[in-house]
Amino acid sequence: MSEPRILVLGAGPAGTAVALGLSRLGYRVRVVSDWRRFEAVEGVSQRALDGLHHAGLISALASAAAPSPRRVVWSGEDRVINQEYLIDRPRFDAALRQDLRTSGVEPIEARVRQVESNEHGHRVLLESGVTLEADFLVEARGRQAPLAGGRRRGPETLSLLLRWHQPAGPNTSAVESFKDGWSWMARMGDGRCYWQITLDAANAELPAKEYLANYCAWRRGRSALARELFGNGISETGELYARSSTAILFHEASGSNWLRVGDAAMAVDPLSGNGIFQSLSSALQAPAVINTMLRQPDRGQLARQFHQQRIDHLFLRFARTGRDFHALEQRWLEQPFWQARCRWPDAEPLHVAADFSQVHVVRASVIRDDTIAESEVVVTADQPLGIWHLQGIELAPLVRTLQAGARLEQVLGGIAAPQQDMLRHWLITQGYRQS
Ligand code: FAD
Repeated sequence: MSEPRILVLGAGPAGTAVALGLSRLGYRVRVVSDWRRFEAVEGVSQRALDGLHHAGLISALASAAAPSPRRVVWSGEDRVINQEYLIDRPRFDAALRQDLRTSGVEPIEARVRQVESNEHGHRVLLESGVTLEADFLVEARGRQAPLAGGRRRGPETLSLLLRWHQPAGPNTSAVESFKDGWSWMARMGDGRCYWQITLDAANAELPAKEYLANYCAWRRGRSALARELFGNGISETGELYARSSTAILFHEASGSNWLRVGDAAMAVDPLSGNGIFQSLSSALQAPAVINTMLRQPDRGQLARQFHQQRIDHLFLRFARTGRDFHALEQRWLEQPFWQARCRWPDAEPLHVAADFSQVHVVRASVIRDDTIAESEVVVTADQPLGIWHLQGIELAPLVRTLQAGARLEQVLGGIAAPQQDMLRHWLITQGYRQS
């Protein structure tokens, strides 16, 4: 293939990060995306911002609000446990498009109606009637990407968002649990207010669609925390937006000439507050995977396997993070909402205790020189996919020498002092003790 025609569907954080990564590798990429059709605010942690920085999404990064306190009222306790950065999604999405333009990719603003694919390529029909052709497709349309089921689904979950305006005040956000779900609320500096309740989709109390906004306003009014955050006189009902927030793992993350990234590959429960971070995580590895599939087809299978393993791993990690957070709510363990979510996806611990005797070296796929290659990596209980480098130092030779009985000083000899400290620290956290 001379110059492969690559088309990315969707310009959320995942699609944009992939497009930028591929441009950096010298590919000509087209991105087609619809604008987000509703106004929402989301909260992210510092590591999501680090991910944006890492992906080169500089305008998107700059669009995040300054950190604000996050109050958590959970299991009867009321705490300010961390800070969160509020993201005004329409502004953030516009900044993502700006990042595309800065890197020389002019996004095509259009809605995709239909995609026809076979092993030779793809025909993408837009609602405008225009047809785009591509050799390689990146599916990044988020939760709106066609799913055809999904390999693994969490309990069916619905999030209802109310949006209204109040006089300006400081940025702030809070989370609160209820007997049948939980809510997240945020107040932006300019007076925009958001209150979102997440419930089981089968919640028997949910009224017909036309009464949902009033129902949510009624629930919001019953919350002492909402009254405190927004003031007692919340007069407006607000505009309602309903979305599914079920955790979903799509059945396959790639085909011979396509790749899924972000929420289109796996979408997590919003409770973990990690959606943007996880969508970036899967997107950051994608350019090397695609580069390998296009330029080194003999390693295409390896690259696809690499992508799939990481998608599966991320999905389980975030699903377990969500499970553990749900499980912190102890008052309503017998209620259907909590019962289902405290047990899903499984009973495996999120973190496994370190045990150096279980640390071992295997051959696995890694990203080397912007392609997927095989190398020796160190597998630990907590890192089943293996670690290749730690700050530029290959771990496999070091672990193998130690396991053969060498002394630590001997193994670390010749390595600069700050890196020695970092390696020593890593070994101790893996349960290594010098006899
Ligand atoms: P998206 O950001 O969804 O981007 C997909 C893009 O594709 C959009 O621009 C869309 O317009 C476009 N598109 C879709 N269909 C078409 C089509 N047919 N044609 C053309 N374009 C199309 N994450 C957080 O980090 N913090 C939170 O607080 C948070 N809260 C959430 C609350 C709820 C209720 C839900 C459901 C999710 C929440 N998330 C949160 C998750 C977060 O929104 C997503 O994980 C993240 O945006 C996924 O990025 P993405 O690039 O994969 O997809």
